[in-house]
Parts: sequence; structure tokens; C-alpha cells
Amino acid sequence: MCDVKKYLLELGVSKVGYADVEGLASEFIDLPNGISLVLKLPKRAIRLVDDEDYEAYWKCFHAQIDKLTKIALEGEEFIKNLGYNAFALTMTRNECDMEKLLSILPYKTIATKSGLGWIGRSALFVTPEYGSAVALGAILTDMPLEFGEPITDSQCDECENCQKACPVGAINPKKWNDRLNREDIIDIEVCGEYIINQYRNGLGCTKCMSECKLTQEYLKNEK
Ligand code: SF4
Ligand code: SF4
Repeated sequence: MCDVKKYLLELGVSKVGYADVEGLASEFIDLPNGISLVLKLPKRAIRLVDDEDYEAYWKCFHAQIDKLTKIALEGEEFIKNLGYNAFALTMTRNECDMEKLLSILPYKTIATKSGLGWIGRSALFVTPEYGSAVALGAILTDMPLEFGEPITDSQCDECENCQKACPVGAINPKKWNDRLNREDIIDIEVCGEYIINQYRNGLGCTKCMSECKLTQEYLKNEK
């Protein structure tokens, strides 16, 4: 196993993949290779959503993001010490356009291009092992890497669990492929408006994450 992957897994990340991202963020930073970091959410976090304890859920989620940020920055340092350029794409660095709810280089793009999973009907990133109960991060680098096989089409099969679980019908029946736009699979305005209203009441909505068929399988298994 490549030293970088081994190092990142030892730091506690759940899955690591490599992708060709040349040109995708060149206005921002011109590094051609992406390292996708996937960190599973603790099963406790999924149960908190079921219990509608969103305060505890977000605390748990943000703790995972902090862990991922730390790992990405340590990974950046590790690669630089090998003599290459590297840039940990942390949340604060991967600036999000709050109107469009899109970042400079979406973590999901790097993750699907690495072959670690696909975009579910819910527009969330889905892994076979943990469903969509994951947090994503990335490192960009010019270090030569052996890229994974990109996943370009949904592997959701005939499942519709997330679509049925959405309280406001924001999820479209169309399954993802990388030729579609996000609006083709989810009405992000309807989803966003509902979430904001939920926040005002001290709640939230991550039903599409917790009710994902593969998240539920992860909850039941020993991993
Ligand atoms: S977060 Fe909630 S409202 Fe938005 S798509 Fe998922 S289930 Fe629907
Ligand atoms: S619930 Fe089913 S359709 Fe929705 S993302 Fe998960 S596997 Fe795909």
C-alpha cells in the first residue's frame, strides 16, 4: 500500500482514494491530483437523528469534521515532507457559495472520481460500507498517484428509501449519473428552506442520510 494511504488510514480515516482532478480547481489552486478522505460517522450519530436529538447530532458531526480537518492537515505535511506540493482542502479553505450551496471543488466529485462511492438519489455521497453516514475531506497534490476507477453512475438500484423518507418531497425519482446536474436529482431550494425552518425550531433534517438503505445496513453490521 502506498505510504500516504497507509499513513492516512493509520490516522483514523475510514477510506482513502485517488483521483485525477486536473483543471477542476485550477483557478483556485493548480494541483492535478486529489486524495479523497472518507470518515464514517459513529453509529451513535445515526441513532441521534432517529431520536431527533439534532443538537447532539451536530455536535457529533462537527467533531468528525474537526478530526477530518486535522487528518487532512497532517496528510498535507506528510506529503510535503516527501518533497511534493500538497494542499489540505479543509472546509474553511474549500469556500462554499452559500447561495448555490456549492464549494470550489466538491468533495463528492473527488470521492466519486476516486471510485469510493457514488451520489445517491438523495444527492448525498453513498458508500457501500457506510451508506451516506460519512463526512468527506480531501487533499490536493502534485504527487504521482495511482487513480481509482471513477464511478460515473448510481449504484442505488431500485431502492427509493431516501426519496420516501424526505418529508418535503425534495428528492426526484431520477438516479444520478455524472452527466446530470444536481437540480436534476434534488430540489435544493425546497430542501434548504425546510432545513432552515427546522433549525429555527432547534431541529434539523438528515432523514435522507439516516434512512438510506446502506446507512441502515451499516447500523446493523459489526463494522
Ligand atoms: S435533508 Fe431532509 S429535506 Fe433535504 S432532501 Fe434530505 S430528507 Fe429531504
Ligand atoms: S436510500 Fe437507497 S436510493 Fe437513497 S441513496 Fe441510499 S441506496 Fe440510494
